[in-house]
This record gives sequence, C-alpha cells and structure tokens, in this order.
Amino acid sequence: MTSCPACGRAVAPTATICTFCERDLRPPPPAPPITRVAVVDVALPFGSMVIVLLKWALAAIPALLILGAIGLVLAQLAAALLLR
Ligand SMILES: [Zn+2]
Repeated sequence: MTSCPACGRAVAPTATICTFCERDLRPPPPAPPITRVAVVDVALPFGSMVIVLLKWALAAIPALLILGAIGLVLAQLAAALLLR
C-alpha cells in the first residue's frame, strides 16, 4: 500500500487514480529533451518573395509617416529653441 500525495490515505500500489480524492497517481511524463533548431536556408519561390517584399514595403508606409511627423515636430521644437 502506498499513500496518496494529495489526501494521504492508503491506496493500492497499482492504482492510477486515488479512490478517495480522484487524484491522478501516475508519474508525470518525462519532459522532452531540449533540441536546437538551425535554419540553414529558406526555399521560397521568386514570385512569393516578390509578394512578401511588396507587402513589407506597403506596411512600412504608415511607420514612415509617423516617424516623419515626429521628426517634423522635433525639428520645429529645435528651431524654436535655437532661433529665438
Ligand atoms: Zn487521494
């Protein structure tokens, strides 16, 4: 007889579930070993690569607008501080 780690009552050694508190008594599965993955090369058709780059360029437009606006504000502040 072994004891349940949750409720401490005696259970059969072959029991997989505690009959009193229904705790799972099976040992936890071993953790998978840590493996390293190295990406050596990416096979991408030329057409797909062109589409990805076009989408990337279109997605960069709002970021450029925002950075340009911030740059304008900073330039105006610098000019106002230096040229008074
Ligand atoms: Zn139990």
